[in-house]
Amino acid sequence: MNVKINEKRLLDTFLKLVTIDSESFNEGAINKYLAEELKKMGAGVYIDKAGKKIGSDAPGNIIASFKGTRKGKTFLFSSHMDTVKPGRGVKPQVKNNRVTSDGTTILGGDDKAGLAIILEVMRTVKEQKLDTVPVQVIFTLNEENGMGGAKNLDYGKIKGRDGLILDNESVCELLVQGPEVCDFKVEITGVAAHAGVCPEKGISALEVAAKALSLMKLGRVDKETVCNFGVVQGGQVTNVVMPKLLLNGEVRSLNAKKLQKQVKHMKDCFAKAVKAFTKRVGGKTIKPQIKIETPQRYGALSVPKTAVTVKLVLAAAKKNKVNVKAMASGGGCDANIMCQHGLLMPNLGVGVQNCHSTAEYLDIKEFYQAAAIALDTLLAYEQ
Ligand SMILES: [Zn+2]
Repeated sequence: MNVKINEKRLLDTFLKLVTIDSESFNEGAINKYLAEELKKMGAGVYIDKAGKKIGSDAPGNIIASFKGTRKGKTFLFSSHMDTVKPGRGVKPQVKNNRVTSDGTTILGGDDKAGLAIILEVMRTVKEQKLDTVPVQVIFTLNEENGMGGAKNLDYGKIKGRDGLILDNESVCELLVQGPEVCDFKVEITGVAAHAGVCPEKGISALEVAAKALSLMKLGRVDKETVCNFGVVQGGQVTNVVMPKLLLNGEVRSLNAKKLQKQVKHMKDCFAKAVKAFTKRVGGKTIKPQIKIETPQRYGALSVPKTAVTVKLVLAAAKKNKVNVKAMASGGGCDANIMCQHGLLMPNLGVGVQNCHSTAEYLDIKEFYQAAAIALDTLLAYEQ
């Protein structure tokens, strides 16, 4: 059986959703609209309490449950409700198989294209009385600000384990792996001294940092690991040996062991720098003090290529004549967080490009293809 989604309705839903402002922390209006739509479609709608915890004007993440007609494990769909800035007053323009904004705002296709696809898939299921397992739709808050919605999702209400996230750019890319990310915050305290009168009495925090960094593997460390310092703060005047310096960096790796190895290597480099700058001044030993914090920002996304959803998405893509590849991402998304909670949800592209900029656009053909793949994946899911 070849079931078709209603492409016109899908596009209309998208065009409607992008006109509902929903910058991160301001998802209240879209939250209300989506909850109503899902109820109209016959879903049991539960809204968790994540909103208050993360400071959103929306009450929480939406978890909508559809009973399905078949017994079996629940299938999950997820997309996020928030957008980046500038996302207020979006005026979508449809031209040449693309939807763009008027150039003054983002489009918000990230991730309203995902929301629209999930709504259309469930509408098609209902309208054509298609046979499916139970389905839960998860619409999250605040993905763009460190995945606050997914981190505070009420996982006790989630019944399934397998599913699909619709929140990537090109439909040709199915993300099955994403890095664990660890912050690397360093506070170096040297010893202040008058740079003109007695520089030998001081320890420059800047030179300590320079020494440590000169010993360090940075940038692309190996195939799976990258490392960067992006923020430096220190010093106020030129005639004082710099007493304090803050460095903020991060390490990302697809491999947890390699990440820990890199973190250790970086700490070792700072320890060596401390040694190099330890000295005797006026009969006393002075040395730089280093404080390092390495909190995990988020865990890895790791869905095996043999996972049932990956196989079903690739098969559905083939059926729809779309060349989709399972691949690794360099960034993080809700899928990383959900994966830490045991959910195996790869992330399929929805046809948006140039996300997070006013040049963002939706490729309508890819958008329709993503919807067809999502529907066929659900229909083929039997567990
Ligand atoms: Zn997104």
